[in-house]
Amino acid sequence: WWHKLKSGLSRTSTALGGGIGAIFTKRRLDEATLEDLEDILIQADLGLATAARITATLRRDRFDKEISDTEVRAVLAAEVEKVLAPVARPLVLPPSDLPRVVLVVGVNGSGKTTTIGKLAMKLGREGRKVTLAAGDTFRAAAVEQLKIWGARTGARVIAGEPGADAAGLAYDALVAARAAGSDVLIVDTAGRLQNRAELMAELEKVVRVLKKQDPTAPHDVILTLDATTGQNAINQVEIFGKVAGVTGLVMTKLDGTARGGILVAIADTFGLPVHYIGVGEGVDDLEPFDAGDFARAIAG
Ligand code: GDP
Repeated sequence: WWHKLKSGLSRTSTALGGGIGAIFTKRRLDEATLEDLEDILIQADLGLATAARITATLRRDRFDKEISDTEVRAVLAAEVEKVLAPVARPLVLPPSDLPRVVLVVGVNGSGKTTTIGKLAMKLGREGRKVTLAAGDTFRAAAVEQLKIWGARTGARVIAGEPGADAAGLAYDALVAARAAGSDVLIVDTAGRLQNRAELMAELEKVVRVLKKQDPTAPHDVILTLDATTGQNAINQVEIFGKVAGVTGLVMTKLDGTARGGILVAIADTFGLPVHYIGVGEGVDDLEPFDAGDFARAIAG
């Protein structure tokens, strides 16, 4: 898995590590070099605050001393790990007689359905009974996709007619999950950001209706973020945070993007738990989020 993580994040680490290598060729650390470094960190989407902290650390400890790119990368990895360590938290499913209700939100195309499928596989392998609710009722393709994941993973899928009321479907799915003795109900949702008021009304209704069955539901509200969208992901955390009360994050598509640094900016800005990262389209391409591994993988 280290190899997979490392190769998945290779474009981010090439951008970061390559940039650092180009400016630090065994020379004294001066102000100009620190400014160049700060630019590279900002361009790699790490966020202004993180970039400023890393350069401040180097200025304090190493100013006017000889420093190699390897040493700079080590400082970078250590500082990034400090930001990420508090948010690296696995999804925990405490033992319960009632299904754990996990709502998955995010804009269309951010990897909701795929992440749900990967999660269903993981949980199934751990011996949990999983029910999936095809709550993105307006997109026929999303419903079909979820059914395919159900067939692949052995999870039962509750789906309605095209255009069915999402809240009604979530309610039915929770009833069905209880009847089947499921440990987990994962609810897919619509991700239309074009009409924010409509989306908000729909998500609120889903939550309200789930609470009629179980006042403690939903237990987790996971936001999927597409790493390739870079800074845009920050807006999405803000919007879905307000609309849906996000409790944790999964960042997808970290493979094949140079913008993996955005996860650091998001951790620094919001402090929300990061449960998993997506590093490919396959069923096994969902890695538990580890701060140290991630930091070392992007620092190159
Ligand atoms: P949804 O609209 O939010 O449900 O998004 P989907 O789950 O349908 O994903 C959109 C596209 O992104 C699909 O082609 C997925 O295969 C792809 N995808 C999802 N997660 C990842 C990932 O971690 N890495 C890569 N490379 N592709 C992903």
